[in-house]
Amino acid sequence: MGITWSPDGSRCPICAGPGRQSTRHPAALCESCQESVVDQNGNSVQLFNESFSGGLEISISGKKVSRSTDDAENFPLYAKRIECRAREYRFGGVVVQPLEAWNVLDKAERSTGFGD
Ligand SMILES: [Zn+2]
Repeated sequence: MGITWSPDGSRCPICAGPGRQSTRHPAALCESCQESVVDQNGNSVQLFNESFSGGLEISISGKKVSRSTDDAENFPLYAKRIECRAREYRFGGVVVQPLEAWNVLDKAERSTGFGD
């Protein structure tokens, strides 16, 4: 699909504008791309933390559609037709990366043992 990102998170993989500068999530969508994500039917999707302590919740048109954080993390999101997934950010907030990036980065993290 040709998604590219910088290891230092300086570039948004969707719009190629400034990224979120996260080395932990280098392919994180910039805030404006994150706000523009839609579901597979093209409905605009809102991403929230469930509470102060975190968790992830997904709403469409103001209606909660995720049953749990796990459910929300597996919900297919699209940014410019690129399939993405959201996750709870480490210290609250929400991070969205292209599915391909999650797969590559998760694999890299496992193989090096480089976690937190
Ligand atoms: Zn962007």
